[in-house]
Amino acid sequence: MKAKEFEAVFNLQQSSNNLLNLQSIESRVSKLEKIRNWILENRQQIQEALHQDFKKPAEEVDLSEIYAVLSEIKHALRNIKTWTKPKKVEASVALLGSKSYLYHEPKGVCLIISPWNFPFNLSIGPLVSAIAAGNAVILKPSELTPNSSSLIKTMITSLFEPQEVAVFTGDKKVASQLLGLPFDHIFFTGSPKVGKIVMAKAAKNLSSVTLELGGKSPAVVDANVDLEDAAEKLVWGKFLNCGQTCIAPDYLLVDEQVEEQLLEHMARFIDRFYDADGEGIESSNAYARIITRAHFDRLRGLLEESLNQGAEVEFGGVVEAKHSFFMPTILSNVSVNSSIMKQEIFGPILPVLSYQNLSEALGLINQGTKPLALYIFSKSEDFKQRILQETSSGSVAINDCVVQFMNPNLPFGGVNHSGFGKSHGYSGFQAFSNQKSVFKQRTGLTSVKPLYPPYTDLTRKAIDFLLKYL
Ligand code: NAD
Repeated sequence: MKAKEFEAVFNLQQSSNNLLNLQSIESRVSKLEKIRNWILENRQQIQEALHQDFKKPAEEVDLSEIYAVLSEIKHALRNIKTWTKPKKVEASVALLGSKSYLYHEPKGVCLIISPWNFPFNLSIGPLVSAIAAGNAVILKPSELTPNSSSLIKTMITSLFEPQEVAVFTGDKKVASQLLGLPFDHIFFTGSPKVGKIVMAKAAKNLSSVTLELGGKSPAVVDANVDLEDAAEKLVWGKFLNCGQTCIAPDYLLVDEQVEEQLLEHMARFIDRFYDADGEGIESSNAYARIITRAHFDRLRGLLEESLNQGAEVEFGGVVEAKHSFFMPTILSNVSVNSSIMKQEIFGPILPVLSYQNLSEALGLINQGTKPLALYIFSKSEDFKQRILQETSSGSVAINDCVVQFMNPNLPFGGVNHSGFGKSHGYSGFQAFSNQKSVFKQRTGLTSVKPLYPPYTDLTRKAIDFLLKYL
């Protein structure tokens, strides 16, 4: 595909944009229903594509790709009439007699660039919000999941005209060419490094952006906690998708009094989840693989460097490049200065650091950039409140991890380095909408006219009267 072809589709979408604006809410509903029906009819194909891409287990596809998108669609279908209705808002005393409304209009032609780690969910999820908000969309899925991306293209081509939704597959060259076009909104999910490139390109056209990025999401475990419950949830949240989840617990901060017990419980849960029959985790059908050799080498490098700097393997540590197999690995005694504590791990290695008091743990969290997610495991209200008040992150889950993603009523996104702008449910709809302020005034004498020149004693009295109300 050449830049000119991208431009042609962009122009086509832009020229049909007014027509899209005029389309009824029912037409948006029918587009969402088409997507839902396609997913229900092609569930097995989606599972197969993801299995080919990185051996993602079918159950994880059902939960983290299919369920996630279907629940977005259901939520949008249930709420679209309320979301799109103009909302009346109050006016101030100075504007007595007038009426004020918020309208949500489509932003126009939008670009969605998605990553490989949840290739279906993170492409179609934002698309659902964009369609609910009435936009035309160009979607660029990741080149690292060729089977999923090609299926997405087949799906969209079979459901939509190119002036409604178009898919361009390819790598950063394709993304880069698309980013040269003056989109009305760009919704990017990926790394902070590429997020900066996207934002710089968007700035040239003053396109608005939603940046769903990543970073290091800590989990803090108190001594006053149900340790077994915390261990089970942490093992699930960390090793789901082979640790390649933006909101996976990146590292663990645990009260030193319970570190040993927590590690024992976690080891037991890893065995229970991925090696129940004792055949070895390699043969588990519940455990995915590392996406590419480059990612595998990066993770192996992080592991080797940590070990060289004195870290100890509490579980796992076995890796096998030929099949991109990287065992769930837990490390203790990790140096805070090692690379593994500086960059997002994005793989199945969990460094565990112990603390003596909470201030130490908070100091470490606040030294880094603001996390996408933060997890607290504790029974103590004071402990939870202190972390909530003394840290900043995109989301917090208390006594659980990762599942906050599944509530469409909770805006999903980061803060600063972990991204900005929010997705999911009404927040996703808002991301793709221009909230237009509409002010309706009466004709004739209004409450504002006494303020017009020439400025007389009467004007002064009117102004003094207004100031009294502030
Ligand atoms: P990435 O940033 O490498 O790639 C994401 C997308 O950007 C891909 O489609 C890719 O083709 C494109 N791209 C790559 N280089 C580009 C460039 N120079 N110019 C323009 N486009 C370019 O990210 P990834 O490896 O696919 O995904 C992993 C990252 O995404 C992690 O940091 C993770 O935390 C983050 N992530 C965030 C969320 C979230 O919702 N916040 C969800 C999933 C992943």
